[in-house]
Amino acid sequence: MRLVLASGNPDKLAEVRAILEGPAREVVPVTLLMPGWDCEETGCTIEENAAIKAIAAARATSMPCVADDTGLFVSALGGAPGVYSARYAGSSAGYADNVAKLLRVLKWEEGASRQAFFRTAAAFASPEGGVVTATGEVEGIILETPAGEGGFGYDPVFFVPSLGCTYAECPACEKNAASHRARAFTKLASLIQPD
Ligand code: IMP
Repeated sequence: MRLVLASGNPDKLAEVRAILEGPAREVVPVTLLMPGWDCEETGCTIEENAAIKAIAAARATSMPCVADDTGLFVSALGGAPGVYSARYAGSSAGYADNVAKLLRVLKWEEGASRQAFFRTAAAFASPEGGVVTATGEVEGIILETPAGEGGFGYDPVFFVPSLGCTYAECPACEKNAASHRARAFTKLASLIQPD
């Protein structure tokens, strides 16, 4: 099965390939088939955004498509930045800007207030119009200073107690085995192509 990933983000593509690809499944980015493809994330939830992207890509390519949308939900911030995680420090903010803002606003927070979780919504859309979604979550703690060079986004400040390190400190294979994204896509894969 050839699945199109409705994203041109190389960090995300690498993770989704590691999670989903196998002898019977290949993942190609939509931007390889349609350079410059983009889709506005107009949903109010990550579930809506994942479905919007998968449906738009399936319509554009006439191929089965998958998409994901991820949010970081922080206790002290009442669940922010959540669906706005990519644009937390502004519409043109990069990973480092978002992390810097998060550490700034959490400066005086301690203990349980620094608890957070990542939630990924993964969606599959067929060219015929069918849509399936699944979610995955991982709990962690926002550190006061970044640690580790791997991963992307908020990984250097997201400490995962079950791994004993931040996502950015652990090997990619360990993140991909148990991450929020892995959980969502593993569930999604079993729904679209049961074993
Ligand atoms: P997206 O909308 O799914 O691209 O995710 C929104 C934002 O969340 C991204 O711009 C990243 O900053 C962050 N993000 C998504 N997935 C991860 C992850 O696995 N680790 C750390 N940050 C992530």
